[in-house]
Amino acid sequence: MFDNLSERLGGILDRLTRRGALTEADVDAAMREVRRALLEADVSLDVVRSFTDKVREQAIGATVVKSVTPGQMVVKIVHDELIATLGADGQTIDLNGVPPITIMMVGLQGSGKTTTTAKLARRLTERDKRKVLMASLDIYRPAAMEQLAVLGRDLDIQTLPILAGQKPEQIARRALEAGKLGGYDVVLLDTAGRTTLDNEMMSEAANIKAAARPHEVLLVADSLTGQDAVNLARSFDERVGLTGIVLTRVDGDGRGGAALSMRQVTGKPIKLIGTGEKTDALEDFHPSRIAGRILGMGDVVTLVEKAAANIDAEKAARTTEKMRKGQFDLNDMREQLLQMTKMGGVSGLMGMMPGVAKMKNQIAAAGLDDRIIKRQVAVIDSMTRQERKHPDILKASRKRRIAAGAGQKVEEINKLLKMHRSMADMMKMMATGKRGALAGIAQA
Ligand code: GDP
Repeated sequence: MFDNLSERLGGILDRLTRRGALTEADVDAAMREVRRALLEADVSLDVVRSFTDKVREQAIGATVVKSVTPGQMVVKIVHDELIATLGADGQTIDLNGVPPITIMMVGLQGSGKTTTTAKLARRLTERDKRKVLMASLDIYRPAAMEQLAVLGRDLDIQTLPILAGQKPEQIARRALEAGKLGGYDVVLLDTAGRTTLDNEMMSEAANIKAAARPHEVLLVADSLTGQDAVNLARSFDERVGLTGIVLTRVDGDGRGGAALSMRQVTGKPIKLIGTGEKTDALEDFHPSRIAGRILGMGDVVTLVEKAAANIDAEKAARTTEKMRKGQFDLNDMREQLLQMTKMGGVSGLMGMMPGVAKMKNQIAAAGLDDRIIKRQVAVIDSMTRQERKHPDILKASRKRRIAAGAGQKVEEINKLLKMHRSMADMMKMMATGKRGALAGIAQA
């Protein structure tokens, strides 16, 4: 998610970090890039405008404090503003109230509504230990009803028996009744979608809402549809009233503008994201993580969590400490590269690794991901211990020797060193940032 945006902002950051002070011209140049990047990420124009205005205002007013580069200042401001726009953490499904808690799912056909209903049912059953009943209200497509029933059987979660000839509101009432009688904690209503936004769908949803009085009305929206998804959210919110949004197909979304726009336009929180076709591919939405990813600083929180399952804790602590002190050397980088291949999907991790996000497109285009990593490891392996610890001693003759040793061109060595430098810089920033140093930048 957000690869293009992170590349752009990464570019701005690189240029700004080479300057001495933050001038109005710097800020304007940066904001032009931010604006362009956001537009390309399919963020709506209004949202882009208000976002860059806010950032600009703060950036020009801010004094660049000692030990911090102008680039870091801007990044911090953009980072904070992204989080503010995306909303606070911890907006989850509201399960408080007299059971059965009713959750109504709305959205266009094909948005992933039925799949998301099953995903949510599974999560509520397995993680929250609730007894869940699912009901399909899609009377127009018997196949959709059957789809939910099949998912229910697979997951061992009850679905309301299908009765022909009932209206959606009647099915909703029957589901609530069954929920009460059967001692269910949660009733999920999967409503019918249409292929386009139309009045009938809206009024049907409004009728169901009036009949079922749900605790939550969740819009399921396909993040790949960008602006259309934003308009959809706005209309549903005006006509039916939403309590939250579930963004699906985030796994395939390279632009991600929908998340930013939807939140800003509707004011409704994105509560969950769908990250795959399987019923366990549902995650909480973390604005802070997304903001980190947007900035190309890597999603360190997620990365660390994933890595924790694979790396031994002591090693991780050592690396973190080194990162914090800015001592991330080529040995550490080699370690990280190997971890990436070990953890299977390089591409999944790519977006989270500081600095690496930038290379993702080239890598994907060449279809070479794991091979590139192996090559980089080979380059590092051709270096002496001294060189790995102190990459700055690598001048032309050493580079030629290493290149020959690894069977690569000198160009490869330079690329690797550049990547290492940006990883080291960003890691240092993020490592300290985890203890509030991103905030600390302003106060230092
Ligand atoms: P509905 O018509 O809105 O009920 O849509 P479905 O639930 O039938 O989903 C349509 C297709 O999207 C199915 O093939 C799903 O497997 C797929 N799908 C749903 N959510 C996601 C997601 O988060 N990521 C991916 N990659 N596919 C998804």
